[in-house]
Amino acid sequence: MNAAPTAVYSPRSLATALAVLADRAPVTVLAGGTDLMVELRTGRTQVASVLDLWGVEELRFVRAEAGGVRIGALTTITELRRQPSLGAWPLLAACAADFAAEQIRNRATVGGSLGTASPAADLGPVLWALDAVVRLRSRDGVRDLPIPAFLLGYRRTARRADELIESVWLPGRLPTERGAFVKVGTRDAQSIAKVVVALVASRDAGSGQVTAVRAAAGSVAERTVELASLQELVGRRPDAAALLAVSRVAASRDCAPIDDVRSSAVYRRHALQRVVCDMLTSTLEVPLEDG
Ligand SMILES: Cc1cc2nc3c(=O)[nH]c(=O)nc-3n(C[C@H](O)[C@H](O)[C@H](O)COP(=O)(O)OP(=O)(O)OC[C@H]3O[C@@H](n4cnc5c(N)ncnc54)[C@H](O)[C@@H]3O)c2cc1C
Repeated sequence: MNAAPTAVYSPRSLATALAVLADRAPVTVLAGGTDLMVELRTGRTQVASVLDLWGVEELRFVRAEAGGVRIGALTTITELRRQPSLGAWPLLAACAADFAAEQIRNRATVGGSLGTASPAADLGPVLWALDAVVRLRSRDGVRDLPIPAFLLGYRRTARRADELIESVWLPGRLPTERGAFVKVGTRDAQSIAKVVVALVASRDAGSGQVTAVRAAAGSVAERTVELASLQELVGRRPDAAALLAVSRVAASRDCAPIDDVRSSAVYRRHALQRVVCDMLTSTLEVPLEDG
């Protein structure tokens, strides 16, 4: 266990929090603490001083904005599941239902998940599939970064040391869209994913052609990745064989899994292919082939 921080700042306003970040560097941000406290206990992270955001109510909100919804960084996983105004984004609740267990969900925040940028995070694929835009705020202003530009690598983000993750914006969804979230873990509760996938897709009611598909996966590369090969489906009326083929391509081209304590690279590719094929079959309502 490492030495205690020399200072813990517990501001009540966003302006004060930003001033601490700007003037007292290096400062480590603390939200729910479900990642950071583990890191401190194991000694994997050393901190000089801590900025405890929990009392900054300005970061705890969900509100309609610009054709979508803006979710404050301190919104907890529990709130993603319970907040009625997030009903139009059912993938959030699906993800929250499979996230850890209740005690963790009550503390773990959206900003903390983004801040850790774990390749195994459940929210990463969901926010990617939903075209989320992360808002970073410093004393100098704001920067809005789409998820692919924010998640740079293994536990690495585009956030500068003087910036806070303030919120995330999600665009509204089309009524024709269907989505799915699947997490493959060792057990139902308290399990970090071996593979996790979020997918949204829609097709034209008349022609049956796929009009849009977006999917992203976790635990299969050094960061959350998009399953870009699935774009091949757009403009087509795929049958079961086509879905099988495209899911095989995605599992081979779009990811780079490794062997680690939770699973093997071979299993991860296999599971990803099966999960993606099933998700495409159900969201696009493609009949299964006989035999
Ligand atoms: C038992 C257990 C089970 C878990 N199960 C799951 C699971 O099923 N799925 C899953 O995805 N994760 C899981 N986690 C990981 C963890 O709960 C999540 O990553 C959570 O979202 C982290 O949020 P937090 O508020 O606790 O972050 P914290 O631990 O407070 O912070 C995490 C990181 O983000 C930074 N940070 C936090 N907020 C901000 C901000 N607003 N601006 C800038 N930086 C910020 C911190 O500096 C730190 O680096 C689990 C953890 C535990 C201990």
